[in-house]
Amino acid sequence: MTVRVRFAPSPTGYLHVGGARTALFNWLLARKERGVFVLSSEDTDQQRNREEHTEAILHGLTWLGVDWDEGPHFQSEGVARHAADALLLLAEGKAYRDFADPERVKAEAEARGVHPSRVARERAEALGPEEAERRAAAREPFAVRFLVPEGDTRFTDMVHGEMRFANEDIDDLVILRSDGTPVYNLAVVSDDHVMGITHVIRGDDHLSNTPKQALLYRALGYPEPVFGHVPLILGGDGKRLSKRHGATAVGDYEAQGILPEAMVNFLALLGWNPGDEREVMSRSELVEAFTSARILKKSSVFDLEKLSWLNGRHLAAAELL
Ligand code: GLU
Repeated sequence: MTVRVRFAPSPTGYLHVGGARTALFNWLLARKERGVFVLSSEDTDQQRNREEHTEAILHGLTWLGVDWDEGPHFQSEGVARHAADALLLLAEGKAYRDFADPERVKAEAEARGVHPSRVARERAEALGPEEAERRAAAREPFAVRFLVPEGDTRFTDMVHGEMRFANEDIDDLVILRSDGTPVYNLAVVSDDHVMGITHVIRGDDHLSNTPKQALLYRALGYPEPVFGHVPLILGGDGKRLSKRHGATAVGDYEAQGILPEAMVNFLALLGWNPGDEREVMSRSELVEAFTSARILKKSSVFDLEKLSWLNGRHLAAAELL
C-alpha cells in the first residue's frame, strides 16, 4: 500500500512553526516510505481566509524544501461532495434534520445544563420522521446532525497508542449547516477519503475531533486512515509557544538568515529523535532515520539557542562544500 499523507492548513495566518513541524513530519514519512505528500488547503472559513496567507504558507514550505506531490487542493471546491456525504448519512438514518432555531436551543440547553445537541435530538425525536420530511419538502431550512451511536469509539494512535472515547461524551455534531455549508469534521473526512489519505499526522489539539471523524468514516463506510497526534510545542517556560517566546512565523526565520537545512533539522527534533545521539542531520539523513514510532508523547520545548547552534553547524558544513 502506498503511504499517502497530507498537510491541511487553514489559510487564516502565516506558516506557524507548529504547522511547519506537522508538515515536515508528514513529508518525512512520505519520503521515507516512498509515498505521496498532498497539500490540502482548508479554505472554507470565508471570513478569515486570505489569498496572501495561502501564498505565505506555500512560500514557507517551499523555502523549507517540504515539497508536495499533489495539490494544493482547496476544500471550498468540495462543498457539493461534503453536502452529498451529509445527505447520504441522512438518507441512511445515521443523521437527522434539526429545524430548531439555534438560539432557542442554546437557551434551553443552558437552562437545563445539557449540551445543545441533546435538546436538538429530543426535538427531532418529538417531531418524527414524517413531519420532518414534510417540513423539508416545504423548504424549511434545517441543519443536519450526525446521530452519534451508543457505545464507545476506539482507534490506535501512532503516537499515543490505544485510545477509547465514550460516545455519550460526544455530541451529535452538525455536519451540514442550514445554509448548506459543511463543517470541518465532515469536510475533512470527505476530503481525506477522496485524496486516499492513509495516515493523518497532526497536532494534539485535534485529538478530541478524531473520535468524531472515526465515527463518520465508519458511518460512511470509508476506510479509516491511521491517526497520529503530535504533542504541542512549548516555550522555555513550559507554556504553549507564543510570540512572547520569539518569532513563531517560519518567514521570520528566513528573514533572519537562518538556513532552511537548519530549520528543518531543528523542527524535526521537536518531538522526535533518530534513536541515537545525532543532532546535526541533513535532510536525507532525517528521511533515512524517520519513523513515526519515535515521535515522543511529551511536549517539546522550542529552544532558540539550539536553533542558532544548529544553524552554525549547517553554515560550517555548507562552507566546507
Ligand atoms: N486545518 C486544520 C488546522 O490547520 C488541520 C486539520 C487536520 O489536519 O485535520 O489545524
